[in-house]
Amino acid sequence: MADCLFCKIIQKEIPSEIIHQDDDITIFKDINPSAPVHLLVIPNKHIPSVTEMTPIDELILGKLFSGAKRAAKNMGIDKTGYRLIMNNGPDAHQEIFHIHMHLLGGGEMKHPMG
Ligand code: AMP
Ligand code: ZN
Repeated sequence: MADCLFCKIIQKEIPSEIIHQDDDITIFKDINPSAPVHLLVIPNKHIPSVTEMTPIDELILGKLFSGAKRAAKNMGIDKTGYRLIMNNGPDAHQEIFHIHMHLLGGGEMKHPMG
C-alpha cells in the first residue's frame, strides 16, 4: 500500500528499529512506548484491520502470535508476562490502518483494561 506507514517500515523506506523480519511478519519497537517493552508485530501483507480480514488471512495472522511469543522470550519477559493488544476501529483508537499487535511488558500493567 503506497501511503501506508507500516508498509513503508516493512519496505525499509522509513527508518525503524526492526528486531525481526521474515517472509510473513515484521516486529519493531513502538516509537512512543507505553511500557518498558513495547513492540509492534505486523503481517507483511497489508490488511487494514480485523474488520477487513478474510479467512485467507487466518494463517498469516496466526503467525503474529508465534512471532510475539518468540519476541517475548528474546526480550526476557516470557516468564513475567506480557499483554497483546489489537486496537480495531475508532472506539479502540486504531491510528494506523495496517493490522498490528502491540506486545507490552517489562512491568506490571493496570487491571482491568478499558
Ligand atoms: P494504534 O493506535 O493501535 O493504531 O497504534 C499505532 C502505534 O504505532 C502507536 O503505538 C504509535 O506509537 C506507533 N507508531 C506510529 N508511528 C510509528 C513509527 N514510525 N515507528 C514505530 N511505531 C510507530
Ligand atoms: Zn500497510
